Amino acid sequence: MTDATAAQLLSMDQAWDRRDTAPGQARAAAQAQVGTAARTQALVVLAYLDWRTGQLSQATEHVTTAISTLRLGEPSVWLGRGLNILAALHSTLNRPDRAVELYEEQVSLARHIQDPELTATALHDLAVELRHSDPQRARAHITEALNTFRQLRSPFGVAIAHANLAEFDRDEGDLPGAYRHVQRALHYAHLDQHPHLEASLLSTLLVVLPAQAPQRERRRTRQRLEYLRTHSDNPELRATVALALAEHAPSGEAAELLSSALDDLQPLGDHVLLPELHERLSQNYSAQGHHEGALHHLQETLAYVRRTHVAERRQNIQTFEVLARIQALQDQAREERQRNHELQTHLQELRALNARIRELSRTDHLTRLANREHLFSEGHHLAQTVTPYTPLSAALIDIDHFKLVNDTWGHQTGDLVLQRVARMILDVTRPGDIAARYGGEEFVLLRAAPVEHLEGSCHDLQQLIRLHPWEDIAPGLQVTLSIGLAQTTEPQFDTLLGHADRRLYSVKRAGRNAIHLRD
Ligand code: GH3
Ligand code: MG
Ligand code: MG
Repeated sequence: MTDATAAQLLSMDQAWDRRDTAPGQARAAAQAQVGTAARTQALVVLAYLDWRTGQLSQATEHVTTAISTLRLGEPSVWLGRGLNILAALHSTLNRPDRAVELYEEQVSLARHIQDPELTATALHDLAVELRHSDPQRARAHITEALNTFRQLRSPFGVAIAHANLAEFDRDEGDLPGAYRHVQRALHYAHLDQHPHLEASLLSTLLVVLPAQAPQRERRRTRQRLEYLRTHSDNPELRATVALALAEHAPSGEAAELLSSALDDLQPLGDHVLLPELHERLSQNYSAQGHHEGALHHLQETLAYVRRTHVAERRQNIQTFEVLARIQALQDQAREERQRNHELQTHLQELRALNARIRELSRTDHLTRLANREHLFSEGHHLAQTVTPYTPLSAALIDIDHFKLVNDTWGHQTGDLVLQRVARMILDVTRPGDIAARYGGEEFVLLRAAPVEHLEGSCHDLQQLIRLHPWEDIAPGLQVTLSIGLAQTTEPQFDTLLGHADRRLYSVKRAGRNAIHLRD
């Protein structure tokens, strides 16, 4: 990895760390790296930010692109982050099964790369996803996450896990349990840094405070919430707190809290808290017998729900289209890989077949020595390389009275003798020699060396023939060889063979079973 790449990756790690506290900076940093070696990591950061701002189809596009690249490499923390975002997207799209699968993949990846923080985060998110469908498993996972966050000394992680456990308990009607978890969460959270978490915890606290709790505690909680409502510069947080306070306030006071939160939030456009504020106001008016007001706010609620429902549907359809398109591309890529693999196998088979055919076309079927064609092509080739110091030598080897072998013991025995002789010729060859069947019962041995070297090998060959137990093949069978030798320093292979043939003929005339080196 180059220094530049390391710096780009480091800057993406920093952008990731700042994704919640400084999303604008994180986005700018990621956009600057889209064209660099840190592109994939930048896409993960952008996907997270897109998801947080509700641009779901864009988030899906970015994160799936990143994940398919990341899956090709070693398992990494970035793949874990990508899986987490994609899981959250599926959860938003109301596909809990797929979300659970992705969180589970994130958990096993995080365990595999031994990243306890990523593991705890994954377990935590998996638990929240399973909260309604499998509360028991959810509780086991979040407890494990909580313990890990404790070991890591991550107060925020501990606080979040307790906050969720409080919600689990509240769901199950265990208000004392929820109360204990809220208190622990409040204890661990660095509240000045996480006012949203504090507001949410205090709101829960108002609900789960036991009846016998000192009045003081209730008052203190309300006062702190009131402080957050009047001092926060975040309208969303102010509205959340107003909703919590209104729940426990006398009717008139509640109406005031809700109306001012509504005025506060309306400039932001369609906010998720708007319908809840309208609905609560409607209930409040209704309880006071103010039916016109009640109707007005109910209509506002419905109008909002209708508007956002349409927008949400459009958004979900777009996101599903992105997912379907990506799925199709992945299927296509998989098929292509499969086809490539098959072609590769095919090609290998063809290559092996080709090699075999070439081998066969150069080999004599019966003896497995080189055939006549190969002898001539190699012979011509070798003849071109001769020098006065490195002549090319040839031995023309002929089995004596071979016709008699066939006539006496049959062709099969004849074939066997040919194979044995061929085997023995091979036994006396040296690396670089060409041993060939020249025709019928005649063989040629070529060597790029002075003829005396070849003469030595031919004597060895005759010795092998002499010692061979031919009687084992057929009683009375005897084999001898006549051999004519020649060498050349001229590049004419045919002339070389002519000389060897002449000497073979002279051996035959002289009575066979001998080697002639000269005329
Ligand atoms: P010489 O000592 O003069 O060489 O006598 P020879 O009998 O060996 O020579 P000749 O050329 O008269 O006979 C060669 C025989 O080799 C004739 C042919 O039937 C036999 N032959 C040639 N090819 C094969 C083969 O592939 N298998 C068998 N079994 N016999 C073969
Ligand atoms: Mg012959
Ligand atoms: Mg012969």
